[in-house]
Amino acid sequence: MTPDYSPEAWDAIVQSGGTPTFRVYVHDVCGSGTVVTDGHYTELTDPFIHCDGTYCAGCKGPVHLGDVYWPDTGESVLDYRRRVRRLTSFWLVAWRGWLGALPGLVLGGVVTYLVCTAYGLPVDRAAAGAFSGALVGAVVVAAVVSRVVRAIWGPDFRRVR
Ligand SMILES: [Zn+2]
Repeated sequence: MTPDYSPEAWDAIVQSGGTPTFRVYVHDVCGSGTVVTDGHYTELTDPFIHCDGTYCAGCKGPVHLGDVYWPDTGESVLDYRRRVRRLTSFWLVAWRGWLGALPGLVLGGVVTYLVCTAYGLPVDRAAAGAFSGALVGAVVVAAVVSRVVRAIWGPDFRRVR
């Protein structure tokens, strides 16, 4: 038995308080529908996760997000991502976007500096190392914070039509 990926099945899950893990989009060039599921569905619907394009089952290749749309609303996936981003509060956008980079910057810099000096590196070398450590820390911590914020406060975009 094949799973039911219809908009009605999607609706029924949301109405019963659940979180859908699938949706179908249509490629407007070839008219084929593609089912997106699980982690790919999360990535596609979450505008804070970078996503340039997706896959078309009809073309069997990558397609632009502006060229695929949700057939139940007619909205392109690109417009959808812009819209749900605007629905998100300022602080949530900040935490998911760049605010997490600040503690990462400080932490990465301080830890790298301490490690470098502990290994007896001269101060100028330790400072150069701390600069790189700060950049790495900013990227890593921002990514972790973004995921933690989503897990705790949502919104879970998979439930947003
Ligand atoms: Zn296609």
